[in-house]
Amino acid sequence: MRLIELYLSVQGESSFAGLPCIFVRFAGCNLRCAWCDSEYTFTGGTAYTEDEVVAQIEALGKGAAPCRLVEFTGGEPMLHARELLPLMPRLLAAGYTLMMETSGERPLDEVPAEVHKIVDVKCPGAGAAANSFRLQNLATLTPRDEVKFVLSDRVDYEFARAFMAEHALAERVGQVLLSPAFAKTPSPLRTADNATLDPRTLVEWMLEDGLPARLSLQLHKFIWEPQKKGV
Ligand code: SF4
Repeated sequence: MRLIELYLSVQGESSFAGLPCIFVRFAGCNLRCAWCDSEYTFTGGTAYTEDEVVAQIEALGKGAAPCRLVEFTGGEPMLHARELLPLMPRLLAAGYTLMMETSGERPLDEVPAEVHKIVDVKCPGAGAAANSFRLQNLATLTPRDEVKFVLSDRVDYEFARAFMAEHALAERVGQVLLSPAFAKTPSPLRTADNATLDPRTLVEWMLEDGLPARLSLQLHKFIWEPQKKGV
């Protein structure tokens, strides 16, 4: 499988935010979100065997407080389904908690139920990637999973609100995450001013509507400079 990077950091999003986590970042993506902050994953990468990935995860997870949380991300991990799907049961059997960030454009029905899927349903502001979510994947989502909407503006917010209502999302998954998009060329300052939708405005809308969702700020953009990689 082709990877861009494999590293230990802290989980920046989802209900696991703030926990130490080993990231396995796959190369390649078939979408082109207007606000993508991972364009460096589109090409290149290094080929790893399954054994090499497991060995790297084991090495990274060793420490005074061993890390047993692993996230598959990218790029789009499900473009590597042929190699990734056999790796998942192996890591689960070894006692790891697994998360996967995916656009939900590829079928998810073969992903083991124990994996926490964080599925990013693309809003109109994603540009060419809008409406790429495969609706059939809704049937694979359980309270173990989370759905994330990255929001650029009010149009995106209303899209997310309508999608949540139409598909009874809050009853179907563990968390619905609303995450303000960040500027493609942010300042090096670790502030919310780099968000294209002010988080304060988003919170006001959520409270006004009593939306059953969780505000999600990408923690790593506040801990490190927003464009820093491998963190
Ligand atoms: S799906 Fe993710 S990696 Fe692919 S273009 Fe969108 S934000 Fe970037």
